[in-house]
Amino acid sequence: MGSSRRARIAGIIGYPLKHSLSPVFQQAAFDFYGMPVRYEAWETLRENLAHVIGGLRDDSCVGANVTMPYKEAVVPYLDDVDADAVEIGAVNTIVNREGRLLGFNTDAEGFARSLAEAGYTGADKTVVVLGAGGAARAVGVSLLRMGANSITFVNRDRSRAQRLVDDLSRLSGDCDLAIGDHDRITLGGLLPRCDVIVNATTVGMKHGQAPDRSPLPADLIPSDALVVDLVYNPPLTRLLAEASERGARVVNGVSMLVYQGAASFELWTGKRAPVGLMLERVLEALKKT
Ligand code: NAP
Repeated sequence: MGSSRRARIAGIIGYPLKHSLSPVFQQAAFDFYGMPVRYEAWETLRENLAHVIGGLRDDSCVGANVTMPYKEAVVPYLDDVDADAVEIGAVNTIVNREGRLLGFNTDAEGFARSLAEAGYTGADKTVVVLGAGGAARAVGVSLLRMGANSITFVNRDRSRAQRLVDDLSRLSGDCDLAIGDHDRITLGGLLPRCDVIVNATTVGMKHGQAPDRSPLPADLIPSDALVVDLVYNPPLTRLLAEASERGARVVNGVSMLVYQGAASFELWTGKRAPVGLMLERVLEALKKT
């Protein structure tokens, strides 16, 4: 970002965006450095996506975050896409460099940092990932980099999980990749021998289609597993509450949210993100939603 003091804008592109926390914590980061940047929510219909992305090329715009459902759809409108985002197959951060739009994905980094902060790693672990959407893709890449032993993607739509495994197989090295059906019998076979369970579905998300629900029957959660829920609102999902009751260790999606956003901020500004402040603002906002 240049040193000019003229006012600029950044924002998040998605639909719907009513409950997005990014404006709150990204604005706090820009304000921390006294930068004259206003971070906005750009709720965008599919038919307006090309136009909104085109607008990012303007000199007044720093860049954008991209969220559901456009992380894959924005790729064709960009001038260049970073290697991480190519591997993941999705973009969650766009940087405007003098009119050229560069795409990045900071979700894999956010996931890895949130696990590391909690004192965990995916190295040598047997992992079950619930979901096969954009977040599951980022988690898969992150786990492969950490040196996971095996990853099974369990998804309602089996063909989507198969596509994900096919895409990741280029990177898989010694890691076994598999898919499983999202039913009690399959889960009953997989879960007792897994070390880490990651919920990368939208199940349990407040304001989503399946709030207050868990993607897993509680009795199948192994008491010695680590259970990670990417859902951050509420911070204590039903899955995490039930996993804790069974004695499992849990990590929620809040720190991943902050770390992926912090990495975006650093790409736009070249400055170190004030992570503690961003986390504080997220936690305050979560109390109000
Ligand atoms: P997405 O691409 O739309 O994928 C949604 C996934 O949820 C799909 O696998 C879908 O299965 C599954 N799903 C939806 N409803 C379901 C149900 N009723 N039962 C079982 N599975 C269901 O979304 P995404 O971008 O991957 O995001 C997934 C979640 O991760 C969201 O809650 C999002 O907020 C969270 N996330 C958190 C962070 C963070 O920083 N903490 C970052 C990224 C995402 P089908 O394929 O069968 O439809």
